[in-house]
Amino acid sequence: MKNRPADPKSEWSIQGIPVASGIAIGKAFVLEGVHVKIETKNISASQVESEIAKYHEAIANIKKQLASDISATKRRLGEENAQIFDTHQLILDDPMLEEDTINAIRNDLRSAAFAFYCVLEKFQSQLAVTDQEYFRDRAVDLRDIRRRVVRSIQGDKTDFLQSLEGAAIIVAHDLAPSDTIALDRHKIMGFATDLGGKTSHSAILARSFQVPSCVGLRYLTKYIESGDRIILDGVKGMVIVNPLPETLEKYHKKRKKVDEIKFQLSKLKELPAQTLDGKDIELAANIEFTDEASSVTTYGGRGIGLFRSDYLYLARNDLPGEEEQFREYRKVAEQMKPWPVIIRTLDVGGDKEPRNIHIASEENPFLGYRAIRICLQEPDIFMPQLKAILRASVYGNVKLLFPMISNMAELYKAKAMLKDAKEELVKKNISFNKNIEIGAMIEVPAAALITDKISDEVDFLSIGTNDLIQYMLAVDRGNERVAYLYSDLHPAVIRMIKEIIAAAHEKGTWVGMCGEMAGNPLATLILIGLGIDELSVSPMLLPEIKNIIRATDYKEAAKLAEKALSFSTAAEVEKFMLRFMQRKFKDLIF
Ligand code: PEP
Ligand code: MG
Repeated sequence: MKNRPADPKSEWSIQGIPVASGIAIGKAFVLEGVHVKIETKNISASQVESEIAKYHEAIANIKKQLASDISATKRRLGEENAQIFDTHQLILDDPMLEEDTINAIRNDLRSAAFAFYCVLEKFQSQLAVTDQEYFRDRAVDLRDIRRRVVRSIQGDKTDFLQSLEGAAIIVAHDLAPSDTIALDRHKIMGFATDLGGKTSHSAILARSFQVPSCVGLRYLTKYIESGDRIILDGVKGMVIVNPLPETLEKYHKKRKKVDEIKFQLSKLKELPAQTLDGKDIELAANIEFTDEASSVTTYGGRGIGLFRSDYLYLARNDLPGEEEQFREYRKVAEQMKPWPVIIRTLDVGGDKEPRNIHIASEENPFLGYRAIRICLQEPDIFMPQLKAILRASVYGNVKLLFPMISNMAELYKAKAMLKDAKEELVKKNISFNKNIEIGAMIEVPAAALITDKISDEVDFLSIGTNDLIQYMLAVDRGNERVAYLYSDLHPAVIRMIKEIIAAAHEKGTWVGMCGEMAGNPLATLILIGLGIDELSVSPMLLPEIKNIIRATDYKEAAKLAEKALSFSTAAEVEKFMLRFMQRKFKDLIF
């Protein structure tokens, strides 16, 4: 198999980073990025009327698609999230826009696409000067509409989610939450993106759809078109374009095998995640959307170890209020009862760019205004969330988790604000669980090194390896160019985790792990051996991890962890674990 397409129409393949296992074979559907190729064409007078007709037709088309996006989003994410499209509708209904575009076609003899593009450009630059704040909030919408209308006029259908006829493998430069949430789950066979590392937001978003996915495929979208036949190998993290018949045959067999393994593993659903010598490991799941809660139980998870509340805030123009959040949290709490639901307070910033919270442009967003740092400085955002979580706590086993704690002052302040939130509820006679457990994420190396002090202040800890690793190893978690340096099996990472668990246990504090390392089958035995209390993984990984736990002797795992700690490099640890796992779990997908 060739590596880069000498001829993009013959078979070629590209290696990326696997993020959700399984094999998908089907047609590619390329979601275009924010850039649109615009034909800067002038027309003759005789073409004026047909260009105006093209413009009207495109607007009518986009309105139809918008209506369909709105109903898909309502179905998937609820009424409020569909408001993301309100501005789109307003723009499309603006009579000025129509008048100016038609004038530009008629008077300046511009093609419909070029005319609309120029009018919107002018509109945007006027807005940028006159109303900075409004412009900032609307810039994404304006860009989106411009892209959609221009593409529709030019007859390029590849951008339209609705033109996805039948199931397809989504191929994109990156996955923006706003592009992704409206997609119809049933039509998606897999995700493949140019950008992203194993723990970037695009990878996490793709995994929430529970289909085979890979990221970091660098230049895939450059050489692929919608309709191309592809194989997505989510086990190896590879995409094969225009496969030859013999490749297809090989992959049909491989898919059958993977599906069979998945089916066998699904039988473990009702069984406990207990080692052979009787040690219980709490096995829970991470969710991004409320509607994922049902898949946690489907895959045999006992609770939610991380509810990323961030997605309630993303891809919308306004902030979710206390009432709306309360309804969402309550739904999940009731559904999971009696199992725990750990709701993490807002963690945006970094690679999760909100439209509704102003974050000035930063040189280093991952080291900047992010997560708890935003919440502590903006009580108008934080207090409604705290109250919503507290109110939901009477409907199930709800716990509250603070992200990105890097020093004690932040933790003290977060707790003080939580106390204020409780007092406000008491004053209003609104009930909540007065003993709600609170936890801190250990995802900053500084926090890891003061685990003992943090343990004194909280009921539990959750290790966020996605960030912990990027900060420890100085490797941007979302940058595919340095992804080879990002390793959860780096001896420094394993040592750090050992220290965190030991320091927490010394204080009698429970420690879970919600970073992606918890779902890496090569790390499972090491983590058990180091004494982790809980693993919280993407729902589709639950059966595989449970299978490993159930086939393991805790004492054996402790020895393996010791051995892993003796190596000097991540490659040595990986080789050692791979060999061990392949011997022990012959049929597993590694
Ligand atoms: C982590 O950093 O490990 C984590 C679970 O949080 P997120 O991936 O949302 O940053
Ligand atoms: Mg994190």
